[in-house]
This record gives sequence, structure tokens and C-alpha cells, in this order.
Amino acid sequence: MRYILLLIAVISIAAQTNAQEFEDYFTDNTLRLDYIFGGNNRSQYIFFHEARQTPGWHGRKSRLSEQILNGNGQLTVRDTLTKAVIYCTSFSTLFQEWQTEEEATKLSKSFENSYVIPYPKRPIEVTITLRDTHARVTSELCHVVDPSDILIRKVEKNRYDYSYVLKSGESNSCVDIAIIPEGYTSSEKEKFLKDCQRTVDALFSHEPFSGMKSHFNVLAVDCPSRESGPTIPRRQEWKDLPCGSHYDTFYTDRYLMTSKMWNVYDILDGIPFDQIIILVNTDLYGGGGIYNQINVFPADHPTFKPLLVHEFGHGYGGLADEYYYDDQFETKYPSDTEPWEPNITTMVDFKSKWKDMLPSGTAIPTPFTPLSYRELLDKNLPKAYTQKIGVYEGGGYQSKGVYRPCQECRMKVLEVEDFCPVCTRALKEVTEFYTSK
Ligand SMILES: [Zn+2]
Repeated sequence: MRYILLLIAVISIAAQTNAQEFEDYFTDNTLRLDYIFGGNNRSQYIFFHEARQTPGWHGRKSRLSEQILNGNGQLTVRDTLTKAVIYCTSFSTLFQEWQTEEEATKLSKSFENSYVIPYPKRPIEVTITLRDTHARVTSELCHVVDPSDILIRKVEKNRYDYSYVLKSGESNSCVDIAIIPEGYTSSEKEKFLKDCQRTVDALFSHEPFSGMKSHFNVLAVDCPSRESGPTIPRRQEWKDLPCGSHYDTFYTDRYLMTSKMWNVYDILDGIPFDQIIILVNTDLYGGGGIYNQINVFPADHPTFKPLLVHEFGHGYGGLADEYYYDDQFETKYPSDTEPWEPNITTMVDFKSKWKDMLPSGTAIPTPFTPLSYRELLDKNLPKAYTQKIGVYEGGGYQSKGVYRPCQECRMKVLEVEDFCPVCTRALKEVTEFYTSK
């Protein structure tokens, strides 16, 4: 009994400490920070644009100074007096993806980025850090934000209404997924709400999401488009869409994405969100997910359900693609650097990955027989392929030098129903991080 009481005392002190830390430094509002990231394949710059205050803080209120994953960039908030880290988050960006494109060898471009943090009580020091594929810092901006700055615009109320498609709890202790309609006119609102319900059904019919449903809220933003359907530049079909999304991003047909992050954040000012889904009213194949930035999907393509779960693995869980090409053109993951994504390794620091889950005596690399397409289409793929943990060579677009945890996984092939155990653990850990009290 004494131990139980002691345990209760320790738990309540820990809870108090967390709450106190938040109350010590932050008010129950949101500070939105807008930046421009610009450059080319050789250099990059970060420019601060502007800040605004929006009502309510809907993100996590504990584990404030922890970084669950490194991402390709980090935002770190320090108290200006003590220099203590009081909040941090990580992300990846469309800008850094573009830097690996051929266009970046000939042209400098700029990209919008926005981040939200709890509104500080005292001046804070904000550091934005961008890293390359070697995890080296390529660009950094450190600036002070004074919460009493008169140029921080106060937004009193959310511009758009929203309704809950799934409501499990308070926004501070749940993962809030905000779904923004793109290419749905006001007369197509019913369809949008049905598509939101399909989104919830798709996501939460899959483990590990189904088992964690009570940790998620999903809300539909009431933001109609003036025109119906998507923008398809290769067909010269341009629509007036609230988020500015389009196909042909980086001249790739199926890359449906937006670079208008300020538009997206304008829509979301005052609305709870930890993850953003832009649902596009089209049956044309495409989409994309960028870690802690955005997830974009076509609502009516036949692969909607598996694609949504796969892309959300990128955007939410920071999971890497586990597929690879034999031609080995891609060198996204250099052999001297351990990638930050939890489900691939270069063996530079395998201990930080799934070494603890590897059955003893497993050969590295683990031998495997590639499956035929017909076998892949078999919905009843033996668990031996999806659940037997090893160190299989091929992953992260590279057939050599990058290793994945299982022969098949949802992050490798859309037809495979299951996430492998390593991806499953990673998704659970991210969820615990956002929902811990
Ligand atoms: Zn996996």
C-alpha cells in the first residue's frame, strides 16, 4: 500500500511539474510564426516573415522540451533569461525535397512555412534549424520574439467553422487531425462530410490506429472552394482553391501537394490541429505526406484507403518509404549517416533502431526471396513476410546500403495490409508523445 501511495505521489508530482512548466512559460493561446525558406541545391536561407496570436493552445502541454523524432528541421524555443529549452518540435519541408530536384541546380526558389507554438509569457528565443541528408546543419536562424510586440497581429476568432467527425477528448491530450476540403464547392459539403467519414473509417480500420482511436480527434473544416475539382497543370486546368494544391509538383504527375502553407495556416487559425489533411475532390491518382507538415490525398481514387494510411505514416509517424529501385539512382540516405526515420537503417547506429526487437541469431543482412506481384496482391500474405523482423537490404528508394525491418510492410507496398512491427511501434510512440498528460 505504501508503495502505491508513493507511486501516486510521484505521479501527481510529475503531473504537477508538467502543468507547472507549461503555466510557467506559456498562456493558453497560440503563437503562429511564418518563415520563408529559400535557396538552391548549394545554399539555403531562412527568413522570418511575421507572427500572429490565435485563440487557444491545442497542442501538447507536457514533454514540451522533448524531440520524438529529428526530422529534417527543428524549431527550438528557449527562455531568454535562463536559456533553458522550453518547447521544441521537428519537421520536414517541401523546400528540402525540392533541393534534391534537378531544377535546384539551376534556380533559386523560396517556400512558405508556418509553425505554431504555445504563446509565451515572456520574450523567447526561437531557433529554426535545417539539416541535410548527412544531418549536418545547413542553415539556422535565431531570433527573439517578444509577446508584447505590437506587430504580432491578434486573431480573435477562427475564420472558419468546423465540426467533429470523431471526438475522443480534449485537444491538449488528443491528436487533432484537421481535414480541409479542397475543390469542394458549398453545394458539395455533404460529399465532403461523407469523405471525411471515409477518412476516419480508413485510418481507424488499421492497426495500430484502430487500437489508439480513443487518442484521436478528427475535425472537418467548413471552408468551401469557389470551384469544384483539382488543379492539374499538365492539362492547363487551374482552379481557384483555398489551399492552392495541385498535381505535377516538381513536374511529377502524381505529386499532389501545396506550397501555399500560409493559405493553409490562415484557414486553420484558431482551429485545433496537430496534423493537417487536405482532402482533394478528385479521383485522379496522387498525393503526398511530409513529416509534421501536411498530408494531401485525392478523395475518390480507388486506392484512397491504403494510400491514406501509407501517406499518413510519413506525415504523422515520420516513417520512410521501405520500397527501393534497382537502378540505384537515388542516394537520399548516405552510407555514413543514420537516417532519422525509425523504420530504415544504414547500420551506422542500428542500436537506435530495432536492434532490441531483432530475434537473436538473425543473419545481417537477412536473406529473403522477393515476392511476385501476384503474391503481393494476395490479401492473406503470410505473417512471415510482414511480421518476421530482420535486417533486409533495400529501402528508402535504395537497393543497396539501406535496410528495412521486414520483407513486406504497408510502407513498402500499398497492397500489404499491415504495418511491420517496427513501424507499428514507431506510430504508437508518436501517439504516446502527443497524448501524454
Ligand atoms: Zn514498416
